[in-house]
Amino acid sequence: MKKHRDFISVLKTNNMRITPARRALIQYILDNQNTQIPLKEIQDFIEDRVVGVNRSSIYRNLEVLKNLDFIQELKLPQKGKCFQYIFDRNVHHFYICKACGKTNKGNNQLFEKIEKALKNVHGFSKANLSLVFYGFCEKCAKTSN
Ligand SMILES: [Zn+2]
Repeated sequence: MKKHRDFISVLKTNNMRITPARRALIQYILDNQNTQIPLKEIQDFIEDRVVGVNRSSIYRNLEVLKNLDFIQELKLPQKGKCFQYIFDRNVHHFYICKACGKTNKGNNQLFEKIEKALKNVHGFSKANLSLVFYGFCEKCAKTSN
C-alpha cells in the first residue's frame, strides 16, 4: 500500500526503527483510517498479532505516531481515548457532543481563518492546528433544556 510505504519512509527519515509492532500498528490504523479507533481495540489487535509486545510499548508507539502527525488523539464520551488517522489530510478539527458522542469534522475554512489570525496577532506561522471542541450538538442541546 502506497500510504504505508510513504509513512515508513517518514519513520526512517526520523531515525525510527521499523519494528513488527510498529508495522502492524501503522497497517491497522490505515485499515481503519475513516474512524476513530479506541485505544483498547488497538491494544487488543496488536497483542493478538505481535509476539512479546506489551501495552506500554504499544502506547509508546502511538505517542511516536502522534508526534509525527500520523494520528491524532481524541477523547470521545463513549469510547474513551481514541486515535484518528490524519497523515495526508488537512482537516483534523473535531466537534464532539458530550451527551451523545457524535463526532463531526470541523469546517476547514473556519480554521484557515484561525491560522491567519495566529499569524497576524502572534506572528506564528504554519501552526499545525489540531483542535477538538467538546460541547453539545443541536439535538442534545435542545433535549437538555
Ligand atoms: Zn449530541
